[in-house]
Amino acid sequence: MRAWIQERLGGPLALRDVPEPAPGPGEVLVQVEAVGLNSADHLMRLGGYLTRVHPPFTPGMELVGRVEGKRYAALLPHGALAEKVALPREHLLPVPESLSPEEAAAYPVSFLTAYLALRQAQARPGEWVLVQAAAGALGTAAVQVAREMGLRVVAAASSASKLALPQALGADEVASYEALPEKVRALGGVDLVLEVRGKAVEESLGFLKPQGRLVYIGAAEGEVAPIPPLRLMRKNLAVLGFWLAPLLRERGLVEDALAFLLPRLGRELRPVVGKVVPFLEAETAFQALLDRGHTGKVVVRL
Ligand code: NDP
Repeated sequence: MRAWIQERLGGPLALRDVPEPAPGPGEVLVQVEAVGLNSADHLMRLGGYLTRVHPPFTPGMELVGRVEGKRYAALLPHGALAEKVALPREHLLPVPESLSPEEAAAYPVSFLTAYLALRQAQARPGEWVLVQAAAGALGTAAVQVAREMGLRVVAAASSASKLALPQALGADEVASYEALPEKVRALGGVDLVLEVRGKAVEESLGFLKPQGRLVYIGAAEGEVAPIPPLRLMRKNLAVLGFWLAPLLRERGLVEDALAFLLPRLGRELRPVVGKVVPFLEAETAFQALLDRGHTGKVVVRL
């Protein structure tokens, strides 16, 4: 079978013929149909992710595929960009029938993160949440999940054209990054921020009402601004860090999230697929992540 291999950190991907994986005890063999790409995959290829993986390895942590004829999604530490993958049966996630394979590959990371991050921040119905980078994969999921939780949403993105998407998904207010301070001031501040930009973190703290909470999820801008403790004291603010990977081991949390998400996926919640790239052009898919031109999720299709 064929798999994309990262042979050295920072280098290109190589398509190689490799032996088909043999499932061990408790494992299943997945015939991969589509892979959702994440910036974590890109960082892993550079050696800059939270966990360092030594080459050679196959990138990709989110897939949809068939096991014994039935379609499942799955999350794995890496290894998804291959025709077949062996993984523990307990890693399989259900896929609502109304989702296409591409949509199904776009749901696990973004929707679990959106739900669990809002849960971690103890989001309450009626509160205002600011979703940064709201036209991205996580942003489009977060806008929808927040609305379903009864929150009111301000969606921010870098351009007016990108803002049409969160608006269509039900955001109550939208603003470009430049217009955001005025928009938030007019609302009297926000209760929560889902922060994924990085450099914007100090500005985001300024948007919070007293006792507001900021969830630090990512740094799409590539740079992380420091968080000044005095700023937190003055308004009794809380900053929470969020990383999905270790939470996946907490079955109760994942089951709670799936109980919320699965009945709504394909109905009130729809993963946004911004770009589909054929398997043989996987490197193009990574380039799309960096170009910042797409909205929603980049999916590699087998
Ligand atoms: P996407 O690639 O879909 O979106 C990223 C968004 O970030 C873009 O839409 C873009 O929106 C914005 N952005 C700002 N600066 C840049 C830049 N220099 N290059 C590219 N995009 C930029 O990613 P996701 O939505 O999947 O993820 C968003 C962030 O959240 C990432 O940093 C990711 O690593 C992180 N994440 C963290 C998780 C965790 O467990 N902690 C789980 C999932 C995601 P715009 O042009 O409007 O600014």
